[in-house]
Amino acid sequence: MFQDIAPKVFDNHYEQRRAPRADDYVVIYNDRQVVMYQERALPTVQKATAQWQLTPDQMTYLFQIDQTAFYLVAAKITPDTDYHYTNARAFRNFTPAWLGYAGATAAHLGWWYETNQFCGRCGHAMVPDQRERAMDCPQCGQKIYPRISPVVVVGVTSGDKILLTKYLTGYQPYTLISGFGEIGETLEDAVRREVHEEVGLDIRNIHYYGSQPWAFSESLLMGFFAELDHPETIQLEHDELSQAKWFDRNDTPDDGAKFILAWEMRQAFRNAQA
Ligand SMILES: [Zn+2]
Repeated sequence: MFQDIAPKVFDNHYEQRRAPRADDYVVIYNDRQVVMYQERALPTVQKATAQWQLTPDQMTYLFQIDQTAFYLVAAKITPDTDYHYTNARAFRNFTPAWLGYAGATAAHLGWWYETNQFCGRCGHAMVPDQRERAMDCPQCGQKIYPRISPVVVVGVTSGDKILLTKYLTGYQPYTLISGFGEIGETLEDAVRREVHEEVGLDIRNIHYYGSQPWAFSESLLMGFFAELDHPETIQLEHDELSQAKWFDRNDTPDDGAKFILAWEMRQAFRNAQA
């Protein structure tokens, strides 16, 4: 999946004091846009320092992959013919893939830093916490952690069949039912509610499959399988979905992004017959 970068290791230990090195990467972030070299490479510290005269105190340490660190730069720079702002969604199809994962994760943090410059409670300017990844309000003491929204992804099965759906807009291939967990509900509640809302079916035997950090929606995806409780007609939620259809495990369509949790779950269901 997208986050599987082995043998490289992602290390998000919060370390403010690590000084930038020449071959570390700089993520110059503004409003979901990141500065890239010819839209396909992140600038190194060495390049960024030479190009924009950036100084280490403009760089916020984010995380490390093996020995390579990533620094966020919130300053707005002037693009030129080689370097310009590119939507952070470009990291979905980035080469090499581990840099795409790093860039997406950096952009997730970039958005969090950008949208938490001031305290939502008293309006005072926030400052980075010294010990953990958080922003502190020196005026009222409020502490803000990075936002990660829980999302459930549900593979509804009935014997050898699995239910695949299509959205009206956005991601177009067949996929699994999914939705955000809401205040006051368990993940299992969210699974039951989403399935009921989107296709009007009741389910049982909900069991956990696996998870995927998904920076593009500031989410943590959590995958579950569940069995159809009793035969019913699908009642499609027409505001969100264009289609919901049962597929035999040997006959699921070969479409969609291969690095997402929903795809891996479809494959797991298909292979379970072997
Ligand atoms: Zn405050």
